Amino acid sequence: MTDIEIPCIMGDGTGEDIWNASREIFEEALLKATGGEKRIRWIPILAGIKALDKYGTLLPEEALHEIKRCGIAIKGPLTTPVGGGFRSVNVYLRQIFDLYVCMRPIRYFKGFPSPIKKPEKVNLIIFRENTEDLYRGVEWQEGTKEANRLIEFLKKEMDISLPPDAGIGLKPISKKGTVRFTKWVINYAIKHKRKTITVVHKGNIMKYTEGAFREWAYDVAKEYKEHITLDGEKGKIRFNDRIADNMFMQVIMRPEEYDILLCPNLNGDYLSDACAALIGGLGVAPGANIGDNVAIFEPTHGSAPQYAGKDMVNPISFLLSGAMLFSYIGIEEASDRIEHAVRKTVNAGIVTYDLARQMGGISPVACSIFGREVKNRL
Ligand code: NAD
Repeated sequence: MTDIEIPCIMGDGTGEDIWNASREIFEEALLKATGGEKRIRWIPILAGIKALDKYGTLLPEEALHEIKRCGIAIKGPLTTPVGGGFRSVNVYLRQIFDLYVCMRPIRYFKGFPSPIKKPEKVNLIIFRENTEDLYRGVEWQEGTKEANRLIEFLKKEMDISLPPDAGIGLKPISKKGTVRFTKWVINYAIKHKRKTITVVHKGNIMKYTEGAFREWAYDVAKEYKEHITLDGEKGKIRFNDRIADNMFMQVIMRPEEYDILLCPNLNGDYLSDACAALIGGLGVAPGANIGDNVAIFEPTHGSAPQYAGKDMVNPISFLLSGAMLFSYIGIEEASDRIEHAVRKTVNAGIVTYDLARQMGGISPVACSIFGREVKNRL
């Protein structure tokens, strides 16, 4: 028997609930998929508030070292205070390991609740550039020396007048960052025989950031003439673009026309939660942050602190993130088993509160019970 080492960050808030409900499912899925030849050896990693309390730092060096060594990790949600306190550890992890691709599959499973009429037509993947744009976190608070200096500089040197009490953030989007991201996504689309790639941008307003993102993405697409078409040639992947506000309407009204969405960071962030609503909500939407050397798998949702410790929330998003991890390391069967068992459990009418309240007439089960039922169906 060989061990597969997986660093795991349980996370804050509801992280512990979903971790407790899912851990044995991951272990069992791997054992079953490999006929008992492989098993998981978890490497627990403390990060965020828990690490701050214990080690006085949000991300201990040793944790970074372990993730780097293994090349993979699974993580629960980490809390980030709004408007002050510390910067996001989630964003820091993405930057430090250069996890430039965020992948969020939005696939409808039969029997899941949805607010739209034909949810079975939803089968999208949102790819979001993960290291640039406003998430780069270059910003200055109103009234600070730095913000004032910048305002003065802009006025003096660039003839731009900003309100003196403005907070300021920068939105860097680079050619290099956009090109490598677009190439990664196009290669994925070719490998997985996807049909369409749609660039989602606000280039009509932010011409030199989002507009440039669109231009550079098209430039890359044109290098793939053998596989990509800009004018609908049959048998090739269609490449087009939509302005972001329109895109929010399109995914609701005509989801069947969309397949892969290629987004700068913030557009992808907003769209991920909006599209999660089409397939049952944040509790069922998985995700991955992928770089050239490390990939970290995590649910789309946050730490939902109001539900922490109540054994209530839905572990599906976390379970499907684990399924993505198995697929990433080439153990498709473990991935399929998890996905299949989740579907069977929901189709048997066993769901947590978030799905139950959308479905009506069903009593919800606890997070832990849902986990047990999935495990029984692996
Ligand atoms: P959230 O995703 O934690 O919760 C929003 C709502 O989604 C909840 O009120 C709940 O109704 C629902 N929800 C979330 N997880 C669910 C689950 N597993 N099952 C069922 N329903 C679920 O978003 P928020 O309240 O805006 O953020 C809370 C904290 O999480 C913040 O500190 C934020 O920074 C952090 N956050 C972390 C990540 C991450 O770790 N990658 C992502 C998003 C937000």
